[in-house]
Amino acid sequence: MVTGENLRIDGDRLWDSLMEMARIGPGIAGGNNRQTLTDEDAEARALFKTWCDEAGLSMGVDQMGTMFMTRPGTDPDALPVYVGSHLDTQPTGGKYDGVLGVLGALEAVRSMNDLGIKTKHPIVVTNWANEEGARFAPAMLASAVFAGVLTQDHAYSRTDLDGKTYGDELKRIGWKGDEEVGTRKMHAYYELHIEQGPILEAEGKDIGVVTHCQGLWWLEFTLTGREAHTGSTPMDMRVNAGLAMARILEMVQEVAMAAQPGAVGGVGQMQFSPNSRNVLPGKVVFTVDIRSPDQAKLDGMRAEIESRAAAICADIGVGCAIDPVGHFDPVTFAPELVGNVRKAAEELGYSHMNLISGAGHDACWAAQVAPATMVMCPCVNGISHNEAEEISREWARAGAEVLFRAVLETAEIVE
Ligand SMILES: [Zn+2]
Repeated sequence: MVTGENLRIDGDRLWDSLMEMARIGPGIAGGNNRQTLTDEDAEARALFKTWCDEAGLSMGVDQMGTMFMTRPGTDPDALPVYVGSHLDTQPTGGKYDGVLGVLGALEAVRSMNDLGIKTKHPIVVTNWANEEGARFAPAMLASAVFAGVLTQDHAYSRTDLDGKTYGDELKRIGWKGDEEVGTRKMHAYYELHIEQGPILEAEGKDIGVVTHCQGLWWLEFTLTGREAHTGSTPMDMRVNAGLAMARILEMVQEVAMAAQPGAVGGVGQMQFSPNSRNVLPGKVVFTVDIRSPDQAKLDGMRAEIESRAAAICADIGVGCAIDPVGHFDPVTFAPELVGNVRKAAEELGYSHMNLISGAGHDACWAAQVAPATMVMCPCVNGISHNEAEEISREWARAGAEVLFRAVLETAEIVE
């Protein structure tokens, strides 16, 4: 008899699996280097498949290399509930980013087996290929093709720093499946992930109920000034692209602060040319990254930044070209699924709060084709994309338990 009280997972088994997976592709400082389509990625996939075989799941692999591991439901006409994340990591990544979501989904299925639970809808534990995008840009590549946002040809042509392509490397590691990408229909999609930010830990909450994912614009600026000697060029005769960049950086900060709360903006990358200490730069290239869960606010920030940047450059006499090189619309997750996550946390006695995902995730693309949401658990000091990434056993357990219960709500237990 399945009752609310015994709907628990095995937190130790989950933790042991996380630690065993972390042995594949070890980093240099306690984390992992298991980049997509490397030999280590293949090894991780094989281990994951072994565990899925033991849990009685059947495998499908699509032409992007995404793994779909199915636990059958009782109704042949019911669409599956997909639950997953990614096993690939950054070059200096942690043990939990992505991995917790895949192995948490596996633990949910293992627990259903232990408890003899049958569901109306099948459950598909999913390992999306190339979530990180560190080796082959952009991030969330396979889920973007799945959602029809990018084409498979485009994805196959992505190259790493050695000039190897996604398509060739996928074949080389033996994980190019035969399923056409994006043909699967989802009843719903859930993803458990570490927060990758400091809010849950600071607020002392076990669970983040994720309501939205931020949208973003990446605006690449190319400022054109005039190279000139820094010593012999009088101040009133300079066309200093570096000065324009500095004023734009300050302005981006002002625009983001004026849009509080619910917006961020900054610059993480810049190139001075010729980048010589006694030459005023003739060319400066940098990328402004602005994000908000609110579409109108996001687009308003972009418009203000572009018009004020044009005025700043005109004042100094610098040429200003702006190229939008990256964009996601904000995502509002499915209210019914979000409600299931909140209810699960409450029933299990875990403290929780609403959260907006600051980073992109496969769930953001899945949300284009199905009702979707995420569950988040804290990570120490908000550190992620870093080998020092850490979570506690209790956080992992709480996250997976909430995932388990919310998935059962959607997949419908058959008594
Ligand atoms: Zn991730």
